[in-house]
Amino acid sequence: MAVTVVQNATCTFCGCVCDDIELHAEGDRIVKAKNACSLGEAWFLHHTAERLYPDALIDGKPASLDAAVERAAEILDRADLPLIYGLSNITSEAQREAVFLAELAGGIVDSHTSL
Ligand code: SF4
Repeated sequence: MAVTVVQNATCTFCGCVCDDIELHAEGDRIVKAKNACSLGEAWFLHHTAERLYPDALIDGKPASLDAAVERAAEILDRADLPLIYGLSNITSEAQREAVFLAELAGGIVDSHTSL
């Protein structure tokens, strides 16, 4: 199978956000993460673009993305001070959207690094 190489990929597993990772992929699977530490390498190598899960869950049951977004909006709208938490295993673009969401909902942002 042909190997695709991506230079200067960013690892968002921890707060260091290393941006000099060289990724090698075969199909949907990353097979090598050059320059990543052992944590970053494990993070990259155990992720896949294969569809393994439903788009969303509501109360533990598979749901459409639209229904899940609607439910999340209802919950956020009722919250007094919503906490947007996590963010360590998502892309920079997703982190930007999470901060925007926190501002919109009058909430706060925190990550696992504060534990
Ligand atoms: S987990 Fe390792 S490679 Fe990833 S950002 Fe942190 S230090 Fe860098």
